[in-house]
Amino acid sequence: MKYVDEYRQEALARKLSDEIGKTVTRPWVLMEICGGQTHSIVKYGVDYLLPKAVELVHGPGCPVCVTSLEMIDKAHCIAVRPDVIFCSFGDMLRVPGSEVDLLIVKSRGADIRIVYSPLDCLKIAKANPGKKVVFFGIGFETTAPANAMAVWQAKKEGIRNFSLLVSHVLVPPVMTAILQSPLNRVQAFLGPGHVCAVMGYREYEPISRRYKIPIVITGFEPADLLDGILKTVSQLEAGHAEVENQYSRVITRDGNIPAQKLINRVFEVCDRKWRGVGSIPKSGYKLQYDFRDHDAERIFEVEEIDTQESPLCISGLVLKGVKKPHECPAFGKECTPEHPLGATMVSSEGACAAYHAYRRHGIGVTA
Ligand code: SF4
Repeated sequence: MKYVDEYRQEALARKLSDEIGKTVTRPWVLMEICGGQTHSIVKYGVDYLLPKAVELVHGPGCPVCVTSLEMIDKAHCIAVRPDVIFCSFGDMLRVPGSEVDLLIVKSRGADIRIVYSPLDCLKIAKANPGKKVVFFGIGFETTAPANAMAVWQAKKEGIRNFSLLVSHVLVPPVMTAILQSPLNRVQAFLGPGHVCAVMGYREYEPISRRYKIPIVITGFEPADLLDGILKTVSQLEAGHAEVENQYSRVITRDGNIPAQKLINRVFEVCDRKWRGVGSIPKSGYKLQYDFRDHDAERIFEVEEIDTQESPLCISGLVLKGVKKPHECPAFGKECTPEHPLGATMVSSEGACAAYHAYRRHGIGVTA
């Protein structure tokens, strides 16, 4: 498969790993932002190929993991209504809310449907004029264009029984929050390939300049990740700090301009709560006033729901790169993918789930 198989070749991975070994002279802490990258690193054992001096910590880039508890509870509150068909991507169904998850709500009779695109919800809305169809619009900048398109199309076609429960989060503000934290250990970022496919990487340049930190936009195959790490540690060793594009077969500096225009037409930037992390200013999208008739929070009056995280789960520290999943006392004991205590164990892209899936017996786990 072009652009995949060649980036999984062992010889190439070994070559890049050797180059990293020759380049590194002192310890460095790097964070991969994207949950997809975390999954690949753990799945392919990319971290085993690194010198001990290079430590990878896992960032907050799993959209399922960082969707706030109160937003999950709002989803439950809407989904139980008899006049609602609640639609979501499948991976949100098992994310624990304060009391239950959407799968349990569904088993109790709620009409909850898994869809593969928000545009599918428009067909459901047309076919069920007596129902209110709601889509749970989570995710980073990556999923924002499709969600914006669904709302845009609904308004254009006059589909009044479709609404979006919006919980979009944005990468650059959370990177800034991590760098500003007194607990921060991150010295360089592997930038999020999927997000930059939409947004380009212009907005990372001021972050790199301000915090004097290398940011290498990186892909998802083992050779991509090793190449991104090599570029990152090369900058660190040379005392440089700039944005570099390892994923140039997909990413341009400007990104997908039509998609950005659509996002900006439908959404506006707002403060947003991140599960385990807390509220971050200007770190999310909400619907513009023009599209308020498709805003599920407003329609179902769930804006005021507020909740508290369980004190047992340390996923906030995992998401900020301060702790590794296996350092959580509940990891693999009280908390498993079958019985998750926190969202980072639920999603396959979550750091806790990735560690659990590929290091079930602790092989190679570093303390
Ligand atoms: S192992 Fe479970 S309880 Fe511990 S941080 Fe991860 S999700 Fe939270």
